[in-house]
Amino acid sequence: FAAKKVLIVYAHESPASFNAAAKDAAVAALTAQGCTVEVSDLYAMKFKAAATTEDITGGVKDAENFSYAKEIKLQEKLKEADLVIFQFPMYWSSVPAIMKGWMDRVLGCVLSLFAHSLLSVQDKKAMLSFTTDCPESVYSDTGINGDINVTLWPLQNGILNYCGFQVFAPQIFWDPATGSPESRSSMLEGWRTRLFNFLVDDLLPFLHLSSHWFFL
Ligand SMILES: Cc1cc2nc3c(=O)[nH]c(=O)nc-3n(C[C@H](O)[C@H](O)[C@H](O)COP(=O)(O)OP(=O)(O)OC[C@H]3O[C@@H](n4cnc5c(N)ncnc54)[C@H](O)[C@@H]3O)c2cc1C
Repeated sequence: FAAKKVLIVYAHESPASFNAAAKDAAVAALTAQGCTVEVSDLYAMKFKAAATTEDITGGVKDAENFSYAKEIKLQEKLKEADLVIFQFPMYWSSVPAIMKGWMDRVLGCVLSLFAHSLLSVQDKKAMLSFTTDCPESVYSDTGINGDINVTLWPLQNGILNYCGFQVFAPQIFWDPATGSPESRSSMLEGWRTRLFNFLVDDLLPFLHLSSHWFFL
């Protein structure tokens, strides 16, 4: 898989964070491969999380039976991207609210069939890249939070696969705060290496989009 245009949707307040380092590593590794990389830094943008009628430009067409998915316009950055990487610290076994808001507001347009066909999301790839403060064992069959794949199901299947993305296996940085500086450096090195050998056999086996859309 050769991504030409990559959008990194990034949610961390601090440029000194491990998430910032992971985002910077991705920008550098992808740019070095000739990709065009765009970063949506959601906190810096003061991205509005709530999907509301205010988002509809040019007037709401049907205020009485308001449907966000039918009213919202396509988002150019998403339209351009071959690959979307979500970089975030795990909050409550999910994404931070500001990133969920991006999914609600930007991916909301994909729910409209018209937008869906225009956007050709099925040609696009997406992946989650995130940090935790729990070690891997906590998100395992025998851990208190259970298997990480179950935790990620609503995001990876319920949102990304449902919207038509092909979803790459997630990049998980387990508990970077507790490890040594060397272990953090090696996590970042592993991420860079993965980005250079990108993702050939790395797609998750979800049911195809068409089985979601059979009712249309
Ligand atoms: C509301 C909320 C809910 C949460 N829910 C969960 C949850 O459900 N599950 C869970 O596991 N966690 C949860 N957390 C914890 C959260 O996921 C972690 O605190 C976060 O993922 C840590 O990532 P960070 O980027 O903020 O780390 P940071 O604390 O910024 O970084 C970790 C370490 O990496 C260092 N570092 C920074 N840059 C570099 C670099 N270039 N090279 C090497 N080292 C570097 C930093 O100096 C620091 O020592 C929650 C937190 C909050 C606030």
